[in-house]
Amino acid sequence: MVDFDFTEEQEIYRRTLREFLEKRLMPESKKIFEKKDISENVWRAVADFGLTGLLLPEEYGGSNSDFVSFVVAIEELSRADYSGLVSTAVLLSNTEGAIVARHGNELLKEELLPKITKGEAILGLGSTEPGCGTDFTAVQTRVERRGEEYVVNGEKQCISLTRETRKFGGGHLVTGKTTPELGHRGMSLVYVPIDSKGVESSEFDTLGPLIGRIRYEDVRVPVHYLVGEENGGVYLVQESFVITRIPVAASLLGPLGRILRDGIEYVKQRKAFGYPIGKFQGIQFQLAEHYSRWEANRWLVYRAAWMVDEAMKKGRFDPFQLALAASEAKLLSSMDSLRAVNDIAMWYGAMGITTEVDVHFALRGLIGAAIAEGTVEAQKIVIGNVLLGKECSSTRFGD
Ligand SMILES: Cc1cc2nc3c(=O)[nH]c(=O)nc-3n(C[C@H](O)[C@H](O)[C@H](O)COP(=O)(O)OP(=O)(O)OC[C@H]3O[C@@H](n4cnc5c(N)ncnc54)[C@H](O)[C@@H]3O)c2cc1C
Repeated sequence: MVDFDFTEEQEIYRRTLREFLEKRLMPESKKIFEKKDISENVWRAVADFGLTGLLLPEEYGGSNSDFVSFVVAIEELSRADYSGLVSTAVLLSNTEGAIVARHGNELLKEELLPKITKGEAILGLGSTEPGCGTDFTAVQTRVERRGEEYVVNGEKQCISLTRETRKFGGGHLVTGKTTPELGHRGMSLVYVPIDSKGVESSEFDTLGPLIGRIRYEDVRVPVHYLVGEENGGVYLVQESFVITRIPVAASLLGPLGRILRDGIEYVKQRKAFGYPIGKFQGIQFQLAEHYSRWEANRWLVYRAAWMVDEAMKKGRFDPFQLALAASEAKLLSSMDSLRAVNDIAMWYGAMGITTEVDVHFALRGLIGAAIAEGTVEAQKIVIGNVLLGKECSSTRFGD
């Protein structure tokens, strides 16, 4: 028997969270988008509500929530926050924090995780570089061990949370080659606080969510900032992709659900040729298709989240099945949401491109979310490789 219901606790959590976000975040969301800056008040409220430690263990102040509840939180956050700034800070602090909780050194966990749960540190991932993104194992950044330290040299590009980590504390899990001659098997993951000596960061002027550049020049961090094994970074990044792609897919569906509902009200009252435009089948058919795909994609996202919970609790599903489910959810949510938001914006005519209507913000925000954590093609590569197996793998990970 298949059960498509959220548990009572998850339903209560969604209701309580939505109420909180409608009061504390939604009224600020346009200002956050315009200024590309999260205010102290908003961030404090978000952390006090427990959102920054959802996936983190209780011993570090987290709530060790199930993954489905975490995805509920991200869907709700992104519904309330068109800038994507707050939801991204919560999302990555949780998922990258979970990677540290699972694979980090005890000292690093004690130092970093309680700060994340209290909102005193934000954690991001520094993978993409000027020369590579999709091909994430081609990074040129070097992470070299010298005595009791790792020395980081390189440049990262299109990275979330540069401004937020400078403002609220924290940093990024940075990928770099420890043993370049080993290729993708010579990559490691190391925590680098943004305020370390030798780190310089700045932001791009973007259409939607804020992304920045980080330059690392002879940056020294203690050896216990290495996450996982030396040269084991590729596996951790792949693990991070699974648990991050699912909530990023939800972050496309949160805003889309809101603008679909707004759009329904709009086409019922906006008149052309003497009728509400919702009476025209050209509009009705678009609505029917986008609403159905939105609903189908939500189930794909929550099925993938449920699979993560089953994997954690019962050891079910292998890494390939989880990677497949996460990429399917991210692929279809990205493709369908971008098509939907374009059509919905047109329902508003010229007003659709003004900041007077919420669809404007969704239009700008969803493009970024569709690229973050891998483009549509990146998801197709994963899906193709899982379905076709090692013989047909188009990447070098299957070596
Ligand atoms: C809002 C936002 C937030 C982000 N946050 C972060 C972050 O926090 N940390 C981080 O490390 N990165 C982050 N990124 C970067 C993101 O992960 C990369 O932009 C993405 O992986 C694509 O890499 P790229 O931009 O280098 O494009 P490229 O990899 O250069 O790709 C260019 C184009 O070629 C296509 N392509 C590449 N390979 C293939 C192939 N084999 N077959 C077919 N087509 C292919 C791609 O799909 C794309 O359309 C963020 C991006 C955005 C937009």
